[in-house]
Amino acid sequence: MSDAVDLFVEDARTISVADAADRLGLGGLRRAGTAERIGPCPACGGTDRFGINTSRNVWNCRGGGGGHDAIGMAAHVLGLDVTRRDDFLEACSAVTGQAVPDGQGESEERRQLRLAQLVERRRLAEERADRREAETNAYREGERQKARDKWRQGLPGLPTVDAYLRARLGGHELPPLPFLRGVEREFYWHGEGEGGPVLLHTGVAMVAPFVDPAGLVIGCHLTWLDQHGPKGRPLLVDGGGERLPTKKMRGTKKGGLIPLVGWTMVGGTILPDLARRRLVVGEGIENTVAAAVVEMEGDPELFARSLYAAAGDLGNLAGPADPKSSFTHPSLKRPDKNGKPRAVRVQGHDPKPDQALDDAFQPPAHVDEILLLGDADSEPVATMAAMMRARARLGGKGRAWIAWPPAGKDFADVLCGVSEAA
Ligand SMILES: [Zn+2]
Repeated sequence: MSDAVDLFVEDARTISVADAADRLGLGGLRRAGTAERIGPCPACGGTDRFGINTSRNVWNCRGGGGGHDAIGMAAHVLGLDVTRRDDFLEACSAVTGQAVPDGQGESEERRQLRLAQLVERRRLAEERADRREAETNAYREGERQKARDKWRQGLPGLPTVDAYLRARLGGHELPPLPFLRGVEREFYWHGEGEGGPVLLHTGVAMVAPFVDPAGLVIGCHLTWLDQHGPKGRPLLVDGGGERLPTKKMRGTKKGGLIPLVGWTMVGGTILPDLARRRLVVGEGIENTVAAAVVEMEGDPELFARSLYAAAGDLGNLAGPADPKSSFTHPSLKRPDKNGKPRAVRVQGHDPKPDQALDDAFQPPAHVDEILLLGDADSEPVATMAAMMRARARLGGKGRAWIAWPPAGKDFADVLCGVSEAA
C-alpha cells in the first residue's frame, strides 16, 4: 500500500464505535441505559436488533456480527466484505468520512452491486420478521379462541360455584352474576419439567370471561374450588412444597375486564349498561362482588347505577409505572444472587406516559366515576403505590377514588366478619 493509504487506514482504526455510528447515520438509535443505544439495523432491519455501547466501545447486531471495531461495524451496516481490499478501504472511508486516497476505493460497478445486495438482504430480513409476527399473532388468537370456548362451555348456575361464593361472602344474598360459570372437571397442570407439565389436580372450577372494550371475550379466568380447602379452594403444592395459586388466566387479560354486575350479553359481546355511569373495579372477583353486596344492601340506588368488574390482577388494574417514579421499599429486603440482603425496588405512583390500550384495563367511555377497591391482604407499600398509579391513570381525584378495607383483610373477609358478628 502507498503511504497515503497506510495513513488513511491508521486514521480509520482510531475512530470510536460511537463516532462511527454518528457518521454512518445511526443517530436514530434510542437510549437504553446510560451507555447503550439500540434500534433497527440499517442492513438487517428489525426494531431493536442493533446496539452499541459507547462506554465499552462495542457494537452488536443480532443479525450477525459485533465487536470493538468501528470498521467492522461499517462493513456490516453497508454490506461490505472486509476480506476484500477495496471493500475494506470503503469501510475505512465510511468511518472517517474521507475519500479513499489514490482512487483505490471500490469501482462504481462494485458499488451498485453491493447496494443492490444490501436492499435484498434487508427485504429478506423484514420478510422473516413479518412471518414471525404473523406466527405470534396466530398463536395469540388461537389462545384467545381456546379461552373463549372454555368460558362458553362453562355451565351457568353450577351449585358448587354458587355455594362457594355464598360461603366466601358470609352467606349474604348475592346479586345476579350471569357471567360466572362453572366447569365440573377442570385439569390443573403444573410445571414445565422434563416429562412436561404434571396434572396436579382435577376438580370444579369457576370460569369468568375477560372482555375487551368492544365487548369481545379475549380470555378467561379460572378459580379451582374445594369446599374443604382454605377459603373454599384446594390446597395445591408443587414438588418443593411451595403453595401454588388456585387461579389461572387463559388467553389475553391485559386491557380487559371481568364483567360482574351491570353488564349484558348482546349478540356475542358483553357490554356495560349505559345507564350505569359509575364503575367499581377490584383486583379479584370475590373482593369486587363483596363490594357489590355491601352497596346493594346499604345503598340500593347507588348499586342500581353502578357497574362492577374485576381486573384479574394488580398489574392490569394499575398499569405500568413511569420508571422515574420507582423507589426503594422502606423496610423490605431480598437476598441477591450472592445471598446479600438488598433493598427491594417498588414500582412508583406515576403511570408510564403514552400507554397502549392493552397495557391495563380500560373503563367504558360513558363512565364518569370510578371506585377502585384496595386489597389490604397483599404487600402494603407496593399495593398502595399501584393503587395511586391506577387512580392517576384513570383521571385522578375528581373521577377516581380508592376504597381500602381494614388492614390485613379484603372486602370479602369484612362481609364474613359482619355476618359472623350478627
Ligand atoms: Zn445487522
